Amino acid sequence: MQSTKVKERIYLSSPHMSEEGYEMQYIKEAFDTNWIAPLGENVNEFEKELAELVGSKAAAALSSGTAAIHLALKAAGVGEGDIVFCPTLTFSATVNPVIYQNATPVFIDSDYETWNISPNALEEAFEKYPQVKAVIVVHLYGLSADMDKIMEICKKHNVAVIEDAAESLGTYYKGKHTGSIGDYGIFSFNGNKIITTSGGGMLVSNNEGKIAKARFWATQSRDQTRHYQHSELGFNYRMSNVVAGIGRGQLKVLEDRVVKKRYIVDFYKRELGGLEGVEFMPSNEWDEPNYWLSCMTLTGNVRPIDIMEVLEGENIESRPVWKPMHLQPYFEKYDFVGSDVSENLFENGICLPSDTKMTEEDLWRVIKTIKRLWLE
Ligand SMILES: *Cc1c(COP(=O)(O)O)cnc(C)c1O
Repeated sequence: MQSTKVKERIYLSSPHMSEEGYEMQYIKEAFDTNWIAPLGENVNEFEKELAELVGSKAAAALSSGTAAIHLALKAAGVGEGDIVFCPTLTFSATVNPVIYQNATPVFIDSDYETWNISPNALEEAFEKYPQVKAVIVVHLYGLSADMDKIMEICKKHNVAVIEDAAESLGTYYKGKHTGSIGDYGIFSFNGNKIITTSGGGMLVSNNEGKIAKARFWATQSRDQTRHYQHSELGFNYRMSNVVAGIGRGQLKVLEDRVVKKRYIVDFYKRELGGLEGVEFMPSNEWDEPNYWLSCMTLTGNVRPIDIMEVLEGENIESRPVWKPMHLQPYFEKYDFVGSDVSENLFENGICLPSDTKMTEEDLWRVIKTIKRLWLE
């Protein structure tokens, strides 16, 4: 029987540990000192290292980016019945914690210049809901939102800004690291992010008191008593010392990963940018993206689904741009402010494989497969 060799899978974005083995060194230290869990040196150091990298005064290492958003909302005083503005074009994890807090999301459209929250739509939302309690801004696919404009609007209304920088570790806006500009910033170390701890998150802020409070909530809100006393609702959201060790090792290669992601997007732009109907994700002179995922939109005869299908046929992973939250069955009952920008980006957008382990040969495999569609 003749065997057909299945080509090795190319991933959208998969975990990439350092060639030097930094992660194992930190994990070994945790084992050697028996600081497996909870907390320990790796957690403390990972917090310090990340805070320093992004330029925030303090950081709390948590079990996920979602947990970090949840505690940011709590720290910002968001509770039952409060309104929170959220971008509609994002992953659901941005919004779910708003519901955990029994608050009400109002979805805001994107603009084509940034793919992120539109300052104009944001202004409009403030007119409609002047009582809003907090604004969540996302830096989608590692592209930064237009923070100066957004901060100006939010300061005028005296509303807390939470930056969901889950996808933008390594992205700078006018020289400032994304996540360090608003009142709170959150990062994710989930398996497909630019660096990973297998799973985990970080909350950062210049308000050290709030970060201390977040650590308290994240460890079941235990009062300072010998007996177990609780005056507040608690959560089990802390990062373990083993996981933090992976994070410390991964931080050392973050810059290398950003360089590779940029190489990947430049490769695609050069080879695919001239095809009819193809447009790449926007670039702005004030933005230094990490290019977590290379994305493009298609407005000609070739549709995103065509590309996804030919790629899957070659065992190559790709996916659509996020489906807007205001179009999701679970969230469609909430209000939406804006027009059809995010809907168009969803309908025309595609995320190409952006795995940092890809070789030049792998990139050619992707490009040749896609180009077939323009030859037919
Ligand atoms: C991944 C992601 C999150 C959630 O992070 P987890 O660590 O998976 O909980 C939140 N927001 C955005 C935009 C994300 O991409």
